[in-house]
Amino acid sequence: MALITGAGRGIGKEIAWRFSGEGARVVLNDVEISLAEGVAEKLQELERKALAIQADVSNWAEVQRMVDRIWSEFGRIDILVNNAGLRKDVLFPEMTASDWDAVISVQLKGSFQCARAVIPFMMKQGYGKIVNISSPIPAGLGKPGQVNYSSACAGVEGFTKALAWEVGPYNINVNCIAPDFIDTEMTRNAARREGFYYEDLKRFVVAEIPLRRLGTTADVANGALFLATEESSFVSGQVLYVRGGP
Ligand code: NAD
Repeated sequence: MALITGAGRGIGKEIAWRFSGEGARVVLNDVEISLAEGVAEKLQELERKALAIQADVSNWAEVQRMVDRIWSEFGRIDILVNNAGLRKDVLFPEMTASDWDAVISVQLKGSFQCARAVIPFMMKQGYGKIVNISSPIPAGLGKPGQVNYSSACAGVEGFTKALAWEVGPYNINVNCIAPDFIDTEMTRNAARREGFYYEDLKRFVVAEIPLRRLGTTADVANGALFLATEESSFVSGQVLYVRGGP
């Protein structure tokens, strides 16, 4: 049974589809419940077990309620993918505390809160896979306008490594995927905000990627599948870069 946060669209949606295709029962979390419900309905039409649950991952009470419901309905929580995230790019002199909080509270604190809620159950069952989604920005590639996002993503990587030490003895693997330039709504919105035509931005970005193409949500879902299964049972505390290059 797999819980994927932010699964209403983009990377999270693709991960839910991929896991479901492999036979997993999936819970699609999103703060925008209509998106998650739309995906769950399509999966149910294929006779797959899928449930949409609304929760804002930055809200502890909502996260706890969601996880308690999952436990009572499924009796297991095998996989958590901390995918929910957002960007609020603003140059530093204009960045407000609320721009900072908005990003940190979802990308970083949201990952902490979901893991904090599921880990007691994973410890009880002696099994768990946690996959955090970050961004390769901390790998020395910080970007102007992303002090909040870069800090959150660096935090997610540190969180992954520290948590892997603590929960490894309970047979819980914790890993991180750092994708870059994946063709999703988040990327298109960011291009629009920065005043780029998406097609122009794509050409510019692709020229810098060693494999000379953009990443797809499927590329990230394939990595998540590896980290959520026994294929990676001796891999923990690692960051997998899905960015067409180093
Ligand atoms: P997206 O904006 O297309 O989708 C994000 C989903 O998360 C949306 O459905 C949104 O409603 C949901 N969400 C936002 N805040 C939430 C909250 N508080 N609680 C629950 N759900 C919430 O984004 P995406 O491009 O699919 O990105 C997914 C993850 O991958 C994010 O963590 C992002 O930082 C990371 N990432 C994306 C890229 C990229 O190129 N697209 C690159 C690096 C990292």
